[in-house]
Amino acid sequence: MNIHEYQAKALLKGYGAPVAQGVAILSADEAEAAAKQLPGPLYVVKSQIHAGGRGKGKFKELGPDAKGGVRLAKSIEEVVAHAKDMLGNTLVTAQTGDAGKQVNRLYIEDGADIARELYCSLLVDRSVGRVAFVVSTEGGMDIEAVAHDTPEKIHTIAIDPETGVTAEDVAKISAALALEGVAIEDAKSLFPALYKAFNEKDMALLEINPLIVMVDGHLRVLDAKVSFDGNALFRHDDVRALRDETEEDSKEIEASKWDLAYVALDGNIGCMVNGAGLAMATMDIIKLYGKEPANFCDVGGGAGKEKVAAAFKIITADPKVEGILVNIFGGIMKCDVIAEGVIAAVKEVGLKVPLVVRLEGTNVDLGKKLLNESGLAITAADDLDDAAKKIVAAIKGA
Ligand code: GDP
Ligand code: MG
Repeated sequence: MNIHEYQAKALLKGYGAPVAQGVAILSADEAEAAAKQLPGPLYVVKSQIHAGGRGKGKFKELGPDAKGGVRLAKSIEEVVAHAKDMLGNTLVTAQTGDAGKQVNRLYIEDGADIARELYCSLLVDRSVGRVAFVVSTEGGMDIEAVAHDTPEKIHTIAIDPETGVTAEDVAKISAALALEGVAIEDAKSLFPALYKAFNEKDMALLEINPLIVMVDGHLRVLDAKVSFDGNALFRHDDVRALRDETEEDSKEIEASKWDLAYVALDGNIGCMVNGAGLAMATMDIIKLYGKEPANFCDVGGGAGKEKVAAAFKIITADPKVEGILVNIFGGIMKCDVIAEGVIAAVKEVGLKVPLVVRLEGTNVDLGKKLLNESGLAITAADDLDDAAKKIVAAIKGA
């Protein structure tokens, strides 16, 4: 689960991290009052969407010469003008895809005088099984290019869970960032605080890009992106309360209600499967026959008829779907339950695209019988290869 920058900053502030004063607003009418609460004379007006690259982003409605999604303002009037310009419009960044994201919230922040822009993130480094700091002196808006062109400028410092962040770790991180003077003092509290926040809140990623050294020498968290481990959300009521469902795919929200693993992709074959391995194999074989999956929905092990029907509805709700492939290996899951779920869903929402079903495993004969007797236009397949060929052919023929 992701949260907005302003929420991430409030959370980090609670752990003692240095962040600027700021006010989040939902309408341009609130911009003036928000800016008046800040000291000035420099303000920053920041689009709040669940995607990075906002500074270099472009608003669809405003043309190529308009400013991006993060704008500096030198007066309250300018803050108001930017707010009016940005709110309600669609920001396209390197991370949003071509469709972009509508900006429904802004964060008005006290502007900082920047001396240097650094990169600092925390993540779970699976190669060492530890939480690690990944840092670079080359922070700001082009970290992906740095990682690609000059990977030696990125340093990883893994933390021993027994000790937490030691003075030695802080010294290593500070050296990697070439910190000096008061910034070295700030680092002694900042890096342990970030580590504490990461662990206590079960984060999957904490990215500060940029972490800045200000002209006065102190450190400040200028941007913050936080993702939480979905499997740990049940123990963080405060984190769940930060969820902004308007930023998420409505089908993914529906899927999470049913505890279904649904992933939206770019192709046009919808896939209902059970188990991650079968999902991967199904997608691979669709690609082998020249098509791309539109999504996959993993109904898991012991789903009932209602859950299967919900999964089927989520898959068909995607307008990109031109055909559906149901590929289930019934182990704990029974094939007749899958068949009942599919039949129930098709009766409710109709079937406007070709459907190929491949069932194997427990109660397979009963499952096939139910499908055959349902009177629905379902194509049965014998194995995975046959199923993929049939759905690809059905789409091409349609
Ligand atoms: P992103 O583009 O989505 O990563 O948004 P950021 O919050 O990282 O802002 C993009 C860039 O705007 C930063 O790298 C800075 O160069 C600039 N910026 C953001 N806030 C300030 C500020 O307070 N003062 C100044 N001078 N520049 C800022
Ligand atoms: Mg940034």
